[in-house]
Amino acid sequence: MGKRIDVKDLNVYYGSFKAVEDVTMTIEPRSVTAFIGPSGCGKSTFLRTLNRMHEVIPGGRVEGHVSLDDQDLYAGEVDPVAVRRTVGMVFQRPNPFPTMSIFDNVAAGLRLNGVRDKSRLKDAVEGSLRGANLWNEVKDRLSKPGAGLSGGQQQRLCIARAIAVEPQVLLMDEPCSALDPISTLAIEDLISQLKDRFTIVIVTHNMQQASRVSDRTAFFNLAATGKPGRLIEMDATQKIFSNPTERATEDYISGRFG
Ligand code: ADP
Repeated sequence: MGKRIDVKDLNVYYGSFKAVEDVTMTIEPRSVTAFIGPSGCGKSTFLRTLNRMHEVIPGGRVEGHVSLDDQDLYAGEVDPVAVRRTVGMVFQRPNPFPTMSIFDNVAAGLRLNGVRDKSRLKDAVEGSLRGANLWNEVKDRLSKPGAGLSGGQQQRLCIARAIAVEPQVLLMDEPCSALDPISTLAIEDLISQLKDRFTIVIVTHNMQQASRVSDRTAFFNLAATGKPGRLIEMDATQKIFSNPTERATEDYISGRFG
């Protein structure tokens, strides 16, 4: 079973600067949720609170609650490393370990988790590469460096690496912004397939992408520079893009702003 994410009254800070204010939202399992909104409104910052990566930044601090199926991710006894294993992340720029082979890139997380058995690693690497729609392109060069792949392939390699440890949730921070249109479509197809197995949250600046891949869309905005970003509206993607409730959402999606 997938797990549901509940965020309640979340405030996110960089030192004394409050970047995101008062977010409350629910993310259903096995769905794709898109975060949209103008630059600087806190989408990436908020995304990183969902796997406790925000606090890695010096001064990074969170107030409020994030839970994954009723487990409070910020409870005192929770190990942030375990949270990041359950809630994986794919970044804007594909970041394979450059000197590692394709095989080792995908196996890295499993090895960190203590998996040593060769045939188990082999099966998991193949399964993850298949899951990331990359197997056929790389099966004959698994021992070659990951850095030798094209940008789009590298991003799928990073997705394979992320899913190899079988997370519940996959966070994607503008995963296509460094990719050409064909690689972008390949990633979008992949996202649609992966949502059968994972809960996916994607930050995107591309409205067509949000409307193509997501089930629900959250629109963030900020009142003015220096003010915190806020969640303005979250609803079924079709509703957000055809008949949003808030004027600010309408203005943003119709390109009048942002
Ligand atoms: P978005 O993803 O919507 O473009 P961000 O989450 O990147 O927005 O940024 C939200 C706010 O937090 C912005 O004002 C940004 O300048 C600030 N911010 C982002 N990263 C840092 C950081 N490492 N240190 C201090 N402020 C930051």
